[in-house]
Amino acid sequence: MAAETLDAVIVGAGFSGLYMLHKLRGQGLSVRAYEAGAGVGGTWFWNRYPGARVDIESQEYSYTFDDGLADEWEWSERYASQPELLRYLNHVADRFDLRKDIQLETRVESAAFDESANRWRIVTDTGDDISAKFVVMATGCLSVPQELNFEGAERFKGESYRTSSWPHEGVDFTGKRVGVIGTGSSAIQSIPEIARQAAHVTVFQRTPNYSVPAHNGPTTKEQLADWRANRKRYREEAMAQGFGVRQIDGQERMALDATPEERAAAYEDRWARGGFSLGGAFADIVLNKEANDTAAEFVAGKIRQIVKDPATAEKLTPKTYPLFTKRLCVDTGYYDTFNRENVSLVDVSADPIQNVTPDGLRTKEKEFSFDAIVYAIGFDAMTGALNKIDIAGRGGVKLKDAWAEGPRTHLGLMTAGFPNMFIVTGPGSPSVLCNMALAIEQHVEWIADCIAYMGARQIGAIEATAAAQDAWVAHVNEVANMTLYPQANSWYLGANIPGKPRVFMPYIGGFPLYKQACDAAASADYEGFALTRS
Ligand SMILES: Cc1cc2nc3c(=O)[nH]c(=O)nc-3n(C[C@H](O)[C@H](O)[C@H](O)COP(=O)(O)OP(=O)(O)OC[C@H]3O[C@@H](n4cnc5c(N)ncnc54)[C@H](O)[C@@H]3O)c2cc1C
Repeated sequence: MAAETLDAVIVGAGFSGLYMLHKLRGQGLSVRAYEAGAGVGGTWFWNRYPGARVDIESQEYSYTFDDGLADEWEWSERYASQPELLRYLNHVADRFDLRKDIQLETRVESAAFDESANRWRIVTDTGDDISAKFVVMATGCLSVPQELNFEGAERFKGESYRTSSWPHEGVDFTGKRVGVIGTGSSAIQSIPEIARQAAHVTVFQRTPNYSVPAHNGPTTKEQLADWRANRKRYREEAMAQGFGVRQIDGQERMALDATPEERAAAYEDRWARGGFSLGGAFADIVLNKEANDTAAEFVAGKIRQIVKDPATAEKLTPKTYPLFTKRLCVDTGYYDTFNRENVSLVDVSADPIQNVTPDGLRTKEKEFSFDAIVYAIGFDAMTGALNKIDIAGRGGVKLKDAWAEGPRTHLGLMTAGFPNMFIVTGPGSPSVLCNMALAIEQHVEWIADCIAYMGARQIGAIEATAAAQDAWVAHVNEVANMTLYPQANSWYLGANIPGKPRVFMPYIGGFPLYKQACDAAASADYEGFALTRS
């Protein structure tokens, strides 16, 4: 017998878990959220590295479910920094009195479905043992860091840091020789900041990433007033964009139908607007390699323009995958940082890292001495956090086994054989290929509506049917294969994690189509899902 009975357990108290808790509690359910961290905020609690900030305009990366919240909160910058994002999420927790139902510093270790009762048994590392009708995995797409598997890392005598679990008190690199391993989004955001302090920064790059300027700055009174006046329309406009980002302003015109001058003008305009807007210049950029090359060449030209040393510019220019097929980075002064005297770049695809030494790091050709090493090596994306929980569904089948060949879901929301277990932004949903604040709100609302529907009809269990799941997985793959995305060895495909099945995990069919599919299922009495009476 479980020690305690609740209607629902939520795992995680980031953007997803906070809103899920608010929604379900508002529907009269008894709910508890468990959070492994010592505070709420998820991504923005953990990732406190210097330069961490949102890559979608702050106003778009916000909750819209409550007018009072939206009206009272004023973002101070176009792209909010991590401390401000964390303040916002703490404000949400306080404003809606969420903390009383959140248990921090508690990791959910297992969840097992009891078929005779249609309930989940959830056990935590602090000994909590709960019986709940529903479990909502709000565990995050990017919450489990890639394992640190550099030989000798533990013998390094200097300071070691990971961008994904940065010390809360911050780090002073003044006068230090710093090695930064990785050139993904976290590295691209932090390197300019670290370089401003450190005596020297050596960046170890395996694969260069494309990055575009954010053009960040303080928000003006006029911008805030405009946002307040047009908030609802702007969110609708964002929801009509494939990536859920209004700023992308996607055009239907094809790059290959435009003249070189028209293309150049469009790309320059988008570069000047900043952020992801480059991606919206033409409709065929992610569909056609020739079209993609025109945009990729434009960015390569920018890198050559900004970075003074031609050899460094060459190393920083991606060559092995199409633009956008790895997450585009949005930076503040990244390429320019390589013009500093105190920054150097090592291409580890040509000169691989052999091991970490007590004094620094050794590549095949060279020995480096450091006072500090920063690991910015990415995440076990989309499935990492789910696979860390021992989840057993119908017949004791483990989620890990059900997903051995890659994750399988219907709409990214549920998995066949795991009744009453919902996933927020699960694999098979737009998730990381979307403005996640918007994707999260849509998922949370769909799940809350589904639970309300069940309550009103005495339905004991809901689960994805195998047929609907098979069809959805086939569709997710089909649309991914229509694009250039599978051509990159990206974390979208699990390519950064040794042994992870190579499956394109997020849904690239676009947010509008996706939402249509979710709404259609709900309004057809959850077609594609099997419902069992209590
Ligand atoms: C560095 C970084 C920058 C990002 N920037 C952007 C951006 O600019 N725009 C954007 O749209 N998205 C961005 N993302 C994605 C970001 O994760 C989402 O936008 C959003 O914050 C996800 O919220 P979430 O609540 O779903 O997940 P998270 O914020 O990841 O929260 C999940 C929480 O669940 C907890 N948890 C996991 N497993 C367990 C368990 N077993 N027991 C208890 N607790 C558990 C974790 O500790 C974590 O706090 C970024 C991600 C990272 C890592």
